[in-house]
Amino acid sequence: MKVLKFGGTSVGTVESLKNVKNIVDSIEGNAIVVVSALGGLTDKLISTAKKAASQDESWRNDMTAIEDRHAVIIKSLVKDELQDEVNTTVTQLLKDLKRNYEGIWLLRALPDQTLDVIVSYGERMSSVIVTAIVENGKRHDSLNFIKTEKWYGKNIADRKLTESLIIEEFKTQGENEKSIVPGFISTDTATGEITNLGRGGSDYTGALIAAALDADILEIWTDVDGFMTADPRIVKDAKVIDHLTFTESMELCSFGAKVIYPPTIYPVFHKNIPIKILNTFHAEAPGSLITDNSLKEDLPVKGVTSLKDTSLISFELKNENELPVLTNRAFNAISKDGIKIIPVSNPDNNFIIDIAVGSGEAGKALKLLEQELAPEISNGTISNLQLKNDLAALAIVGKDMRMKQRMSERIKHSLQRQNIEIHAMSNGSSDTTLLYIIDIDKTLEALPLVHSLVI
Ligand code: ADP
Ligand code: ASP
Ligand code: MG
Repeated sequence: MKVLKFGGTSVGTVESLKNVKNIVDSIEGNAIVVVSALGGLTDKLISTAKKAASQDESWRNDMTAIEDRHAVIIKSLVKDELQDEVNTTVTQLLKDLKRNYEGIWLLRALPDQTLDVIVSYGERMSSVIVTAIVENGKRHDSLNFIKTEKWYGKNIADRKLTESLIIEEFKTQGENEKSIVPGFISTDTATGEITNLGRGGSDYTGALIAAALDADILEIWTDVDGFMTADPRIVKDAKVIDHLTFTESMELCSFGAKVIYPPTIYPVFHKNIPIKILNTFHAEAPGSLITDNSLKEDLPVKGVTSLKDTSLISFELKNENELPVLTNRAFNAISKDGIKIIPVSNPDNNFIIDIAVGSGEAGKALKLLEQELAPEISNGTISNLQLKNDLAALAIVGKDMRMKQRMSERIKHSLQRQNIEIHAMSNGSSDTTLLYIIDIDKTLEALPLVHSLVI
């Protein structure tokens, strides 16, 4: 059995939904189909909520546009005999959504929990529509079986409970049934409140289901021909990668390749279930296959990507010998609070310790470091901590990257020749990834340059 996931790019318009129908209808036997909200709708749901909270009356026009968009799709695609049923269900959801906006308007505030409820309507509506337009469609509500728990203030999947609930939910799946599942949305294990798996999280819904049911494959259907050597919107000659490993795809995604939401890879990797990236608008293209091992014909370097919103915390030592101990203490202090560290070191100066983190967590990381290193800062063993924002991590991912010293030097010199400053770079700890921390406003220039050097 396979699990397919169609992103917002695939369920955005009448035309693209016709492609989805063709793809799903051509599957023999049963399958599970995870769908995102109509393309761009999640952003719209959020911006409309913000307007209502800030007393911008135009939220009402946005609401009308959301209603019209769903009405046009239902009218164009749903069979006559199902029109009334689908219209009634979607109209009720739209009414509830509007009531939520009215509440925010009166409250003049947008609590996080209310925003989670608001964004859930996107997938709740799209899944009703897709169920009605495919053959043998049956909707399964992920609010009942995708569960989250709190982890350092974030919602993360409650993997164990979710796995058993998924198995229970699909035990009775019909022989030719195409089970349609809203992606992204979930409920909290402890409170039952609506939550979600994070932006782009429908991929993860697909992976959790594929892993729980030991699916043969997870197919991610999107709007490009596969996983590419770089973001095709930035690097014009980016090519489709025929095959890559779970580890390589995980690295590319966690360093910004938007094509798969990073947590998606873990559950299927664990069960060794292959992932395929396919194009809803070009279904006959072979796509990209992700499996556990490299193939003989694989290219050594898979791709180049960049992670925006990176920050760098640095401090200087008086004595180079202190470097390993202080680095260790600094890393432990930060990571015990769930903050992810990007492994880099200073490119030219062994007396400087550089720690790269996501900008959203930089303030917290800085505080933790100041606490941990307070004695050394006050007695002058190390300098004050410096924080640099507006940076990006440029990543080059492939096989045996640790061995590619010459490539690493060549990239460094090419970037410097173009006056692209390297604030920090890989510390040789990763076998799959070379990293360069550069200014964020240089990424559009650096990506094509590095891509042309390594691909
Ligand atoms: P979906 O709505 O299907 O989830 P996303 O917008 O989340 O689609 O992801 C697909 C987009 O990811 C593509 O349109 C492409 O512009 C972008 N992208 C960024 N990096 C890559 C890459 N390395 N390979 C393929 N696509 C990429
Ligand atoms: N609709 C959600 C988003 O836009 C989830 C997804 O598309 O995967 O983030
Ligand atoms: Mg996506």
